[in-house]
Amino acid sequence: MDPKQLQIHLIELIRKSSTDMPPDIEKALMTGYHREAKGSSAKGAFKAIMETIKLSRKKSIPLCQDTGSLVWHIYYPDGSELLPVESSIKQATVLATRLNYLRPNSVDPVTGINPGNNLGNGVPSPHFHPWKKKSWEFNLMNKGGGCENVGAQYKLPDTRLGAGRDLDGVYKSVLDAVFQAQGRGCAPGIICVGIGGDRDTGMVIAKKQIFRKLDDANPDQLLATLEKKLYRDCNKLGIGPMGYGGKTTVLGVKIGKYHRLPATYFVSIAYMCWSDRRAKMIIRGQKAHYSN
Ligand code: SF4
Repeated sequence: MDPKQLQIHLIELIRKSSTDMPPDIEKALMTGYHREAKGSSAKGAFKAIMETIKLSRKKSIPLCQDTGSLVWHIYYPDGSELLPVESSIKQATVLATRLNYLRPNSVDPVTGINPGNNLGNGVPSPHFHPWKKKSWEFNLMNKGGGCENVGAQYKLPDTRLGAGRDLDGVYKSVLDAVFQAQGRGCAPGIICVGIGGDRDTGMVIAKKQIFRKLDDANPDQLLATLEKKLYRDCNKLGIGPMGYGGKTTVLGVKIGKYHRLPATYFVSIAYMCWSDRRAKMIIRGQKAHYSN
């Protein structure tokens, strides 16, 4: 791939992800709007969200002032050179920041200095996955800071919750995390869960669930059933959009799993806000195809 051309494609991908809402999320938000009572704060919150989406798309401006941290998952033809791709991602990030598709969001935790270009130690940190195909697939998500703050990781068993090392324990952990959030992190959220792994990979699998479409079906029957049950029961909590009260506290629940050590059982919860920004680009030859 020509690095200059790739850079241009990547800037467009960042623009799309930052400014355009995926259709499945928009549809779920509209359903939430129709479900809430006339004149309620919840309906008002949904109305403001829908107007923001329209305006952002029309003017190509970020859906939220916090453009988040960029989470990349890239599938590449086995044997490809990756260093030039990493370099193109960095360059595209700098240029997208200049174009105001991204807010300067990278801060040195020791000095407090923000370089203003969204680069820094560990930023960006793309995940690369080889595959047998000849095409490249770039998956990008903007993960906001407010919702990142209400993410959680439970270590089972948990005596406070009466949660054991089983799917009922997972259920209790997720419900507790949504209850504790009380709408913070800009509900209605998408609750993405990783069961197992370790403290690091558990959160990776949780965040990977954010790339799933809301209406997909989990191939694991047990997890599919748990997703539906949690979706129903989280929405019974009555927390509502932004915590104003209402029928829509979450837009979806998605669960993945990794094998765990016998001595550990982590439930990692990545909370994604209503501003669930994700985009995909597939490159075949020099041609790029984009979708949200
Ligand atoms: S949590 Fe999401 S919607 Fe709320 S401020 Fe952060 S990015 Fe924006």
